[in-house]
Amino acid sequence: MKECTTVLDLRNYKGFYSFKLQILIAMEKRCLECEEELFGRIDKKFCSDQCRNAYNNKSLREENNYIRSVNSILRKNRRILAKLNPKGKAKVHRDQLLKKGFSFNYHTDLYKTKENKVYHFCYDQGYLELEGQLFALVKKKEYINQPN
Ligand SMILES: [Zn+2]
Repeated sequence: MKECTTVLDLRNYKGFYSFKLQILIAMEKRCLECEEELFGRIDKKFCSDQCRNAYNNKSLREENNYIRSVNSILRKNRRILAKLNPKGKAKVHRDQLLKKGFSFNYHTDLYKTKENKVYHFCYDQGYLELEGQLFALVKKKEYINQPN
């Protein structure tokens, strides 16, 4: 009976010690959403489900906002190219594109010819840089056949 008590005491002591240690580590941490101090599990990031949801919704919203803004630049680029290239083939000066707000940093895909010429595409509308700040505009005919 006495021995049994000793064993139990030792277990309790160990359990208490690791519990205390966890609290100490957890005390350094704060809820990612409301910055309340966090207690309990070491890997805890939020004080409540509400805070977790709020945080996740916010980062999803930021992600969506970013994607939306890139999409709108791409759509605008496509529109500018299409407008300057109504016949499917045209030649324009860089300034014409810039004046309409074209952004050279964004495109959807590239097409490299055997001669190492690189066409940039914004969806179906593309351009190839020529000499003297000129660009050849082209229109892609096969929309779907571009898996790479
Ligand atoms: Zn919180």
